[in-house]
Amino acid sequence: MAYVYDDENIFAKILRGEIPNTTVFESQHSLAFNDVYPQAPHHVLVIPKGKYVNYDHFAAEASDTEIVDFTRTISAVCDILEICPGDEGNGYRMISNAGTDGVQEVPHLHVHICAGRELGRMLQKTQ
Ligand code: AMP
Repeated sequence: MAYVYDDENIFAKILRGEIPNTTVFESQHSLAFNDVYPQAPHHVLVIPKGKYVNYDHFAAEASDTEIVDFTRTISAVCDILEICPGDEGNGYRMISNAGTDGVQEVPHLHVHICAGRELGRMLQKTQ
């Protein structure tokens, strides 16, 4: 699979410091920041700093170090937001949209972490 990355996408501009963001957590290879149009009381986007279009691109081509860093960043965000189900939180939904059918708007891999209310059924439409 040949993946084509657009350097002018909005998250690339955030990573270059050209557009501001509200950072929740930053690591060597990943950045977590608040979504500008939150769909829940907590709505954080986690992105790798590397140039990956979507999750299958990342899973296929990222280094082990980047993959571990990204995964641990998700854990850090859940800790910071206190949303881990159990003693401290009530849970969350994690979504990563890809491509046309996934209705991905920004072509840089991002995981949405939404929490802070009961989020309803996962998909609104049938078939
Ligand atoms: P997706 O449809 O999965 O590609 O989601 C893209 C998300 O990026 C949407 O939830 C937008 O609200 C969010 N978004 C777009 N521009 C920005 C920005 N400058 N800072 C933070 N979030 C953004």
